[in-house]
Amino acid sequence: MDQRGVTLWFTGLSGAGKTTISKAVAEALRAKGYKLEILDGDVVRTNLTKGLGFTKEDRDENIRRIGFVSRILTRNDAIVLVSAISPYREIREEVREKIGNFVEVYVNAPLNVCEGRDVKGLYKRARSGDIKGFTGIDDPYEPPIDPEVECRTDLEDESESVAKVLKKLEELGYFAQASAVPAV
Ligand code: ADP
Repeated sequence: MDQRGVTLWFTGLSGAGKTTISKAVAEALRAKGYKLEILDGDVVRTNLTKGLGFTKEDRDENIRRIGFVSRILTRNDAIVLVSAISPYREIREEVREKIGNFVEVYVNAPLNVCEGRDVKGLYKRARSGDIKGFTGIDDPYEPPIDPEVECRTDLEDESESVAKVLKKLEELGYFAQASAVPAV
C-alpha cells in the first residue's frame, strides 16, 4: 500500500500510558495494512542504547540514537512509533527537525496518577531512594509546549486516546487517499 513515512513520538512520565497507547495505535495501523516499526524505550535500552544511564547526557544520547533510527526508517516510508520518556524538550525538538515528518504525542497524566499506577514498581523504588534520578521524582520532565496530540490518560480511556492519534494522522494526510478516479 502507498504510505507516507512518519514518526509518532510518544513522550511522558513513566506509567503515563506511552507503551499502552502506542501498541494499540500500532494494532489499528496494522489492521489498515500499514507497515510500521515500534521503538519502545525499555526495549531499546537493552540493545541499541545498552550501557547508557540516566544522566542528562546519556538520556540525550539515548534519544539521539532512537531519533537516528527513526529518521532512516521514516525516510523509507515506514511509520515509526517511538515511546520513550524523553524528558528534555531541546533534544525532542532536535529530532523533530531532523526527521521532518514528526508527530509528537504528549501522553499526560499527573505524577500522582502515574505513581498510583506504578506499573513497574519503579516509583516505589525511587521514593525509597533505591533508584536515583527518576523522572518526576528527582529528575525533571519538560512537557511539550505545542504537541500535535495530547492524551490525558487520567481523564480519557485508552480507546479515546488511540482515536485522537489516528484522527491527527488523518488530518495531517498520512493515510492513503482513495483514488478519486475509479479504475475502469
Ligand atoms: P508508559 O509506557 O508511559 O510507562 P504504560 O503504558 O506501561 O506506561 O502503563 C500505563 C498504565 O496506565 C497501563 O497499566 C494502562 O492500562 C493504564 N491506563 C489507564 N488509562 C489509560 C489510558 N487512557 N491510556 C493508556 N493507558 C492507560
